[in-house]
Amino acid sequence: MLVALPARADWVGDAIDLMGTRVSVELWADDEARGRELVAEIMREYHRVDDAMSTYKPTSEISLVNARAADAPMVIGDELFRLVERSLELSVASGGAFDITYDSVGYLYDFRAHQRPTDSEIAAHLNAVDYRHVVLDRERHTIFFKTHGVRINLGGIAKGYVVERAAAMLRARGVEHALLNAGGDTRVIGDRRGQPWIVGIRHPRVADEVVTRLPLVDEAISTSGDYERFFEENGRRYHHIINPATGRPTEGILTVTVIGPDGTMTDGLDTAIFVLGVEKGLQLIEAYPEYETIIVDATGKVSYSKGLMAPN
Ligand code: ADP
Ligand code: MG
Repeated sequence: MLVALPARADWVGDAIDLMGTRVSVELWADDEARGRELVAEIMREYHRVDDAMSTYKPTSEISLVNARAADAPMVIGDELFRLVERSLELSVASGGAFDITYDSVGYLYDFRAHQRPTDSEIAAHLNAVDYRHVVLDRERHTIFFKTHGVRINLGGIAKGYVVERAAAMLRARGVEHALLNAGGDTRVIGDRRGQPWIVGIRHPRVADEVVTRLPLVDEAISTSGDYERFFEENGRRYHHIINPATGRPTEGILTVTVIGPDGTMTDGLDTAIFVLGVEKGLQLIEAYPEYETIIVDATGKVSYSKGLMAPN
């Protein structure tokens, strides 16, 4: 005799290495089998976005843009168009600190191989770093680079985007409690069934220590760190966040966290603040009333935006 099993509620999840980091989903499902389907759907979505936006894949849409958009305006998909558009908006708002054309020089760094460009290589490529070289045409849905040598890279915003996308998909399917993570970018839906999600901000220098822990409900949190991808040479640290003005890794900040309602914004803003530094970074966050930041500078000092009170 066959007996229909009653639906069983449980946490379900999965994690894999993707986008140069670890991506994961954890969600509460009233029906475990249905929950597993949703988890699989989110993992497919992570892959889909990575396939489109990874500059490491020669066939990705963004790689085609980098290969061709200086020759003639190129029609691109809606998703890439809108993410580039949002990136350019953030470039304007941050006075060019956030700039996806950083990669015109940035691609010359290979942090795994401990390789960096020489001064003359930086000088030869730096004029291609300028978000104003990127022209979007809304009507034709095209992207065009005004000069050759421009390369765009969405590494500063794509992980926040993908967890935000995943959250929207899960909400649309009725999920009320979930945690979506892509490296330093996290998006939570609801709470952890009666308690807030607790997300720790990793200490930039001391292993297994946290700067602080934050209780989150229905929010996004992004952290950038100079410890994510770097190498050291003669006591200097070369890390993955590039000052578009110099073509070199930024100095003065160890880690930046941004909290707010939208993961794409928290991710973009953390990178922008990293480049801007404490004072200008705190000014930038003032323009976004729903967003808060925690910055640790090179002296170890922790600064908080106005909406967060420094713990005693
Ligand atoms: P993390 O990778 O530590 O989470 P971010 O969100 O700041 O930190 O992303 C860092 C990535 O942003 C780099 O690996 C690079 O792809 C990209 N990036 C570096 N410098 C800039 C910049 N000035 N503007 C926009 N993106 C940048
Ligand atoms: Mg970022």
